Amino acid sequence: MSELDRILSDILFDEITSYTNVKETNIRKQVKAYESQSSLAIRIGQNEFSKNVKENFHNKCCFPSCEISDKNFLIGSHIARWSDRPELRGEIDNGLCLCLMHDKAFEMGLFTLDIDLLVSINTERLANYGNPINRIKEFNGYPIKQAQTCVNTDYLEHHWIRIGFRP
Ligand SMILES: [Zn+2]
Repeated sequence: MSELDRILSDILFDEITSYTNVKETNIRKQVKAYESQSSLAIRIGQNEFSKNVKENFHNKCCFPSCEISDKNFLIGSHIARWSDRPELRGEIDNGLCLCLMHDKAFEMGLFTLDIDLLVSINTERLANYGNPINRIKEFNGYPIKQAQTCVNTDYLEHHWIRIGFRP
Protein backbone atom coordinates (compact mmCIF):
# COMPACT_ATOMS: atom_id res chain seq x y z
CA MET A 1 0.00 0.00 0.00
CA SER A 2 1.47 3.30 -1.05
CA GLU A 3 1.46 6.30 1.22
CA LEU A 4 -1.34 7.79 -0.86
CA ASP A 5 -3.40 4.59 -0.58
CA ARG A 6 -2.97 4.65 3.17
CA ILE A 7 -4.08 8.25 3.37
CA LEU A 8 -7.07 7.57 1.14
CA SER A 9 -8.00 4.48 3.10
CA ASP A 10 -7.70 6.39 6.41
CA ILE A 11 -9.97 9.13 5.09
CA LEU A 12 -12.48 6.63 3.75
CA PHE A 13 -12.44 4.54 6.95
CA ASP A 14 -12.85 7.65 9.10
CA GLU A 15 -15.78 8.77 6.97
CA ILE A 16 -17.47 5.37 7.25
CA THR A 17 -16.88 5.22 10.99
CA SER A 18 -18.15 8.71 11.61
CA TYR A 19 -21.11 8.13 9.28
CA THR A 20 -21.98 4.91 11.16
CA ASN A 21 -21.58 6.66 14.50
CA VAL A 22 -23.87 9.49 13.44
CA LYS A 23 -26.41 6.97 12.16
CA GLU A 24 -26.27 4.93 15.38
CA THR A 25 -26.56 8.05 17.50
CA ASN A 26 -29.57 9.17 15.48
CA ILE A 27 -31.22 5.78 15.79
CA ARG A 28 -30.53 5.74 19.51
CA LYS A 29 -31.97 9.24 19.83
CA GLN A 30 -35.07 8.22 17.88
CA VAL A 31 -35.58 5.09 20.00
CA LYS A 32 -35.17 7.14 23.18
CA ALA A 33 -37.65 9.76 21.94
CA TYR A 34 -40.11 7.00 21.01
CA GLU A 35 -39.68 5.31 24.40
CA SER A 36 -40.16 8.52 26.33
CA GLN A 37 -43.18 9.39 24.17
CA SER A 38 -44.82 6.03 24.78
CA SER A 39 -44.02 5.99 28.50
CA LEU A 40 -45.38 9.53 28.71
CA ALA A 41 -48.56 8.39 26.94
CA ILE A 42 -48.89 5.49 29.38
CA ARG A 43 -48.30 7.82 32.34
CA ILE A 44 -50.90 10.29 31.07
CA GLY A 45 -53.33 7.40 30.52
CA GLN A 46 -52.73 6.09 34.04
CA ASN A 47 -53.17 9.51 35.60
CA GLU A 48 -56.42 10.00 33.70
CA PHE A 49 -57.64 6.54 34.73
CA SER A 50 -56.69 7.14 38.36
CA LYS A 51 -58.46 10.52 38.42
CA ASN A 52 -61.63 9.06 36.86
CA VAL A 53 -61.70 6.09 39.22
CA LYS A 54 -61.28 8.34 42.28
CA GLU A 55 -64.13 10.53 41.08
CA ASN A 56 -66.25 7.45 40.41
CA PHE A 57 -65.89 6.62 44.12
CA HIS A 58 -66.49 10.25 45.20
CA ASN A 59 -62.79 10.55 46.14
CA LYS A 60 -63.08 8.13 49.04
CA CYS A 61 -61.33 4.85 49.75
CA CYS A 62 -63.99 2.22 48.97
CA PHE A 63 -62.89 -0.16 51.74
CA PRO A 64 -65.68 -0.32 54.35
CA SER A 65 -65.35 2.26 57.12
CA CYS A 66 -62.09 3.67 55.73
CA GLU A 67 -62.23 7.44 56.06
CA ILE A 68 -59.32 8.38 53.80
CA SER A 69 -60.56 10.98 51.34
CA ASP A 70 -57.43 12.98 50.56
CA LYS A 71 -56.58 12.55 46.86
CA ASN A 72 -52.86 12.37 47.64
CA PHE A 73 -53.49 9.25 49.72
CA LEU A 74 -55.82 7.62 47.20
CA ILE A 75 -55.05 5.39 44.24
CA GLY A 76 -57.15 4.37 41.25
CA SER A 77 -56.31 0.69 41.46
CA HIS A 78 -56.78 -1.80 38.61
CA ILE A 79 -58.75 -4.97 39.16
CA ALA A 80 -57.56 -6.66 35.95
CA ARG A 81 -54.10 -5.33 35.18
CA TRP A 82 -53.47 -3.51 31.91
CA SER A 83 -50.93 -6.17 30.99
CA ASP A 84 -53.57 -8.90 31.45
CA ARG A 85 -56.40 -7.13 29.62
CA PRO A 86 -54.96 -4.31 27.47
CA GLU A 87 -58.39 -3.65 25.93
CA LEU A 88 -59.64 -2.51 29.36
CA ARG A 89 -57.25 0.45 29.45
CA GLY A 90 -59.02 3.43 30.91
CA GLU A 91 -62.26 1.56 31.71
CA ILE A 92 -63.41 2.89 35.06
CA ASP A 93 -65.54 -0.19 35.82
CA ASN A 94 -62.16 -1.99 36.11
CA GLY A 95 -61.02 0.31 38.90
CA LEU A 96 -61.26 0.61 42.67
CA CYS A 97 -60.48 3.75 44.60
CA LEU A 98 -58.35 2.64 47.54
CA CYS A 99 -56.13 4.41 50.04
CA LEU A 100 -52.44 3.52 50.04
CA MET A 101 -52.83 0.87 52.74
CA HIS A 102 -55.90 -0.83 51.30
CA ASP A 103 -54.41 -0.72 47.79
CA LYS A 104 -51.31 -2.48 49.08
CA ALA A 105 -53.40 -5.05 50.96
CA PHE A 106 -55.46 -5.65 47.79
CA GLU A 107 -52.36 -6.06 45.63
CA MET A 108 -50.81 -8.44 48.16
CA GLY A 109 -53.99 -10.49 48.21
CA LEU A 110 -54.71 -9.92 51.90
CA PHE A 111 -58.25 -9.39 50.71
CA THR A 112 -60.25 -9.50 47.52
CA LEU A 113 -63.88 -8.90 46.64
CA ASP A 114 -66.41 -11.60 45.95
CA ILE A 115 -68.93 -11.51 43.14
CA ASP A 116 -71.31 -9.39 45.28
CA LEU A 117 -68.49 -6.89 45.98
CA LEU A 118 -68.18 -8.02 49.58
CA VAL A 119 -64.74 -7.99 51.21
CA SER A 120 -63.24 -11.46 51.38
CA ILE A 121 -60.24 -11.72 53.70
CA ASN A 122 -57.43 -14.20 53.23
CA THR A 123 -57.07 -14.97 56.94
CA GLU A 124 -54.08 -17.25 56.43
CA ARG A 125 -52.09 -14.57 54.63
CA LEU A 126 -53.26 -11.83 56.96
CA ALA A 127 -52.04 -13.79 60.00
CA ASN A 128 -48.50 -12.68 59.12
CA TYR A 129 -49.42 -9.10 59.95
CA GLY A 130 -50.12 -7.44 63.26
CA ASN A 131 -52.26 -4.39 63.95
CA PRO A 132 -53.36 -2.14 62.38
CA ILE A 133 -53.15 -4.10 59.09
CA ASN A 134 -54.62 -7.19 60.72
CA ARG A 135 -57.74 -5.21 61.61
CA ILE A 136 -59.00 -5.39 58.05
CA LYS A 137 -60.31 -8.85 58.98
CA GLU A 138 -63.08 -7.17 60.98
CA PHE A 139 -64.61 -6.20 57.64
CA ASN A 140 -64.83 -9.68 56.16
CA GLY A 141 -68.18 -9.90 54.34
CA TYR A 142 -68.80 -6.15 54.39
CA PRO A 143 -69.71 -4.39 51.14
CA ILE A 144 -67.35 -1.82 49.61
CA LYS A 145 -68.67 1.70 49.20
CA GLN A 146 -70.77 2.20 46.10
CA ALA A 147 -69.46 3.89 42.99
CA GLN A 148 -71.42 5.92 40.44
CA THR A 149 -70.44 3.46 37.70
CA CYS A 150 -70.58 0.00 39.21
CA VAL A 151 -67.49 -2.21 39.18
CA ASN A 152 -67.66 -4.96 36.56
CA THR A 153 -67.44 -8.10 38.66
CA ASP A 154 -66.32 -10.16 35.63
CA TYR A 155 -62.86 -8.63 36.04
CA LEU A 156 -62.45 -9.88 39.63
CA GLU A 157 -61.44 -13.30 38.34
CA HIS A 158 -58.16 -11.71 37.17
CA HIS A 159 -57.44 -10.54 40.71
CA TRP A 160 -58.28 -13.97 42.15
CA ILE A 161 -55.91 -15.67 39.70
CA ARG A 162 -53.21 -13.07 40.32
CA ILE A 163 -53.22 -13.47 44.08
CA GLY A 164 -53.85 -17.21 43.96
CA PHE A 165 -57.02 -17.50 45.93
CA ARG A 166 -60.74 -17.83 45.44
CA PRO A 167 -63.23 -16.22 47.78
ZN1 LIG B 1 -58.63 2.76 52.88
